[in-house]
Amino acid sequence: MDQIFRFKTSRGRDAISFNGYSYRLDRRSASGDLFWRCLTNGCRGRLQTDEEMNQPVVRGADHSHPSSIEDGMIRVAYTRMRERAVAETTPIPQIYQEEANRLASLEAASAMLPVLQSIDTALYRARRQCLPPLPDDRDIDILEYLKEVGRIIADRMS
Ligand SMILES: [Zn+2]
Repeated sequence: MDQIFRFKTSRGRDAISFNGYSYRLDRRSASGDLFWRCLTNGCRGRLQTDEEMNQPVVRGADHSHPSSIEDGMIRVAYTRMRERAVAETTPIPQIYQEEANRLASLEAASAMLPVLQSIDTALYRARRQCLPPLPDDRDIDILEYLKEVGRIIADRMS
């Protein structure tokens, strides 16, 4: 059965994987249909779905590269890692391990998962970015900044 996996690009855009090809959202028609373009640079593969990301219809030219179901699953796992790094206070290595375990039954996919060392910088950055930016003005009240950080952390833990 054809399956659509949803994920986010590293820039946070909606993206999907369908039949082993990954697409990012390109535009939305007036009637609500979604138009997707292949994530591979220069590839002219396109996809159209309804507004719920269902009913995929292949559009555009043939893909210029092979398909990979595993590629889509890695992207989904990585999206979940990034979302959890931001939403939870769980240690990054634990998040990585738990999401990697979900892929473990899919041998090819787990073999492709980047090792933690190569992605943890991005996960830590994602976690840091949900805090207010560090004040770069020396006159700014550091105490007010820390209070704001405390509020955000308290919100997330409640
Ligand atoms: Zn393509």
